[in-house]
Amino acid sequence: DSVFGAIVRAPEDPILGVTVAYNKDPSPNKLNLGVGAYRTEEGKPVVLSVVRKAEQLLVNDQSQIKEYLPIVGLADFNKLSAKLIFGADSPAIQQNRVVTVQCLSGTGSLRVGAEFLARHYHELTIYIPQPTWGNHPKIFTLAGLSVKTYRYYDPATRGLNFQGLLEDLGAAPSGAIVLLHACAHNPTGVDPTLEQWEQIRQLMRSKGLLPFFDSAYQGFASGSLDADAQSVRTFVADGGECLVAQSYAKNMGLYGERVGALSIVCKTEDVASRVESQLKLVIRPMYSNPPIHGASIVATILKDSNMYNEWTVELKAMADRIISMRQQLYDALSAKGTPGDWSHIIKQIGMFTFTGLNSEQVAFMTKEYHIYMTSDGRISMAGLSSKTVPHLTDAIHAAVT
Ligand code: PMP
Repeated sequence: DSVFGAIVRAPEDPILGVTVAYNKDPSPNKLNLGVGAYRTEEGKPVVLSVVRKAEQLLVNDQSQIKEYLPIVGLADFNKLSAKLIFGADSPAIQQNRVVTVQCLSGTGSLRVGAEFLARHYHELTIYIPQPTWGNHPKIFTLAGLSVKTYRYYDPATRGLNFQGLLEDLGAAPSGAIVLLHACAHNPTGVDPTLEQWEQIRQLMRSKGLLPFFDSAYQGFASGSLDADAQSVRTFVADGGECLVAQSYAKNMGLYGERVGALSIVCKTEDVASRVESQLKLVIRPMYSNPPIHGASIVATILKDSNMYNEWTVELKAMADRIISMRQQLYDALSAKGTPGDWSHIIKQIGMFTFTGLNSEQVAFMTKEYHIYMTSDGRISMAGLSSKTVPHLTDAIHAAVT
């Protein structure tokens, strides 16, 4: 006679549920390519050595205390995070028209940004790419925005549907919010070129569309923090306004520390300070203030040039391993003569490959080969290693023949 007796069971999260199913499988050959987390060649999770070093420094530093952070988080962390995404010489930062608040990783940054827009922005429609990360529509809908999609991926070319994108954004109501993946689009691994970004920028600015960048993979896509921030910097360079949600989950391997930032670039310093005052009112009743440890790690690394350089080396090594997995998988499928064109595996960028396999083929690979991935055919290249490439190749080959 529970008062909750009428509650129906909810389905597993489509992405996190893959790991739940994987954990239940007793097969020694099982392979989890669902999770968006970096693994070594040995399939092990990694804590970066520069992160260990920063943690050691923090432990030994007697001035480190555990009292509450301000509502907007750690001041150093916020400044350094803005510098990281907008560039050290960003005029917007120099003109004090960027407000940055520490949030709970990328997800929390998106949610705080969405709640702010729902309360204070005049156009409540947000356009998200089709497809996009599965959490996006839920985050924006629950914040009170109305979610529409714009064309992004072309299954025929397994590349960008640039014409469709321009048409859909061109038809959006003026002022609408547009979610853009800053780099390494999840799940497709397909990014616009810099020339295409420039065209998107011109179109959006001419229509007064408001860019909301999701930057979950800075440095993880190309191995270069600056290259992966170019899309964002192109938009900020024109003096216009935008929002950016940053995550340190992937690029610093701080997944479970939940450390990220929301920046809002405004036209003037005065607007920025009023926006910040309202962001505090959004955050306070949600979680009061953010946690201290992860942000302290990030600030420690970003403010010390030696540690910063060490980080970029470790980050590049992760990106390079993923890129080499793409090449190895592509080479193995070619060597095996697997039917079809698999060149998208090496053309796509970032953590994921959008294989083009359909949900029946995915189900087959899970059942017969114990390979776990999302039903849309997305595989995490970060979960793959030289040792597991042959097993995945066999499975893909069997699934398509
Ligand atoms: N945006 C995208 C596109 C992502 O892929 C992810 C992580 N999978 C996130 C945001 C947020 O991740 P987190 O909250 O762990 O930073």
